[in-house]
Amino acid sequence: MAQRIVVIGGGAAGIGAAGAAKGTDPGAEVRVYTEFEDVGYSPCGIPYVHGKEIPDFERLFLATKQTYEDAGIDIRYSTAVTAVDAAAKTVTVAGEGQVRYDKLIVCTGFGYAPAGVPGAGLGGLYFVKNIRRAMEWDTVLDRVKAAVVIEASPLGLEMVTALCHRGIETHLVDPGAWALTAATDPDIAGPVQESWQQMGARLHFNTTLTGFAGDGTVSAVLTSDGEIPCDLAVVCTKKQANTALAAAAGIRTGSAGGVIVDERMATTTPDVWAAGDCVEVPHSVSGIPVQGLSGSHAYAQGKVAGTNAAGGSRSYQPVSVPWGMVAGEWMIGGVSFSETLATALGIPHVVGVAEGISRARYYPGVKKIRVKLLAEPGSLRLIGAQMVGAEGIKERADFLAMAVRTGITARQLATMENVYSPPIGALNEPIALAAQNLLSRIGG
Ligand SMILES: Cc1cc2nc3c(=O)[nH]c(=O)nc-3n(C[C@H](O)[C@H](O)[C@H](O)COP(=O)(O)OP(=O)(O)OC[C@H]3O[C@@H](n4cnc5c(N)ncnc54)[C@H](O)[C@@H]3O)c2cc1C
Repeated sequence: MAQRIVVIGGGAAGIGAAGAAKGTDPGAEVRVYTEFEDVGYSPCGIPYVHGKEIPDFERLFLATKQTYEDAGIDIRYSTAVTAVDAAAKTVTVAGEGQVRYDKLIVCTGFGYAPAGVPGAGLGGLYFVKNIRRAMEWDTVLDRVKAAVVIEASPLGLEMVTALCHRGIETHLVDPGAWALTAATDPDIAGPVQESWQQMGARLHFNTTLTGFAGDGTVSAVLTSDGEIPCDLAVVCTKKQANTALAAAAGIRTGSAGGVIVDERMATTTPDVWAAGDCVEVPHSVSGIPVQGLSGSHAYAQGKVAGTNAAGGSRSYQPVSVPWGMVAGEWMIGGVSFSETLATALGIPHVVGVAEGISRARYYPGVKKIRVKLLAEPGSLRLIGAQMVGAEGIKERADFLAMAVRTGITARQLATMENVYSPPIGALNEPIALAAQNLLSRIGG
């Protein structure tokens, strides 16, 4: 008899898991439950539709509902799973009752951390996630004169940029001293903040959110530094693992708040796997469990979970977390630890910084790139990097993530070979320059 694999969640992890499960065991009955009306779209593109760089939401759909039917994946839309009974191997589904499973994959994703202030139930608070809601909010944005973005998280950075592009008076409120303090140092975030100011954004750093005010709908954001009148607040608080369902079923969660999984994405409960933003996985340098990574992590984890749940064999490695984005007029990116984060965690490090260029200095469009590398004292193994520039940031972040994962040292980076071709790369690679500066600083 065909095994029944039930996936809870239709985001990057759930769809990755369902596809991999079907690919591994084509005879399996693969069923996906999602609370949303759609699957197979990229939420990552939503800020860019709001910012009018992408003309419409339809382009964010990567597959049609028919695509999944043709692939033999049974997706139940707008259908919540309300409980899991791991002993009986059933899930309780709204409108369907008890549904048996042979294998279960939990991909319930993330929710934004509650703002935890008065007025958090008012209308006019936008949590960017579901594409249908984003379409509705996009028409609201046409009428918005002033908006406040709550927290300089990755999504917060994208939304500040998008709202500025849209011509909306945009405020950013964040308790940190600069943007994205969890991943950057001030010298990396500085150019982004300057460019936002040039775009008209008003930045309220070192400022705590104390409430939302309004009569039914938000009309002001209240902060430790006063009141900001607005028509809309975009809540971009930290992503939290959505583990309520799993935890209620006795599936263990860990110190970062995510479901605990092993390298096969198996949970501590037999026949239950989990993947994506609802899990925590070890960091490759610190070994500390981390959670709330990216869509690319979620998709890759989903594929591992789906393969293994269906009877195949794949494993997932500890993560070094490359990241990158466009913010203001700049691209920023990096991997693993910033100086600020490494210091806060008590991780010893030495630093090298350099400013290089993205193309030959005489080639039109050449841009500056600032690279900062962190290495472990003694071994000089790379443990972190950050960059700000205008091109080539993603490729460097991916390369540096592989360097972190494989234990490449600053000494090796200092003598790395690099492409020199006037339109795409300078004679001196900025990463090599930063590594050379690191060696000079330590007298190497
Ligand atoms: C606006 C935005 C921009 C983003 N930008 C990027 C980017 O630039 N790069 C990048 O890599 N990633 C990006 N992401 C991805 C994101 O940050 C997450 O990492 C990713 O969405 C995690 O995928 P997931 O499948 O684990 O969870 P989610 O996307 O949170 O999906 C969870 C799924 O579970 C379902 N669900 C939850 N509970 C139940 C239940 N009880 N019953 C049934 N269904 C349930 C939901 O309906 C949903 O389908 C972005 C996301 C958003 C929203």
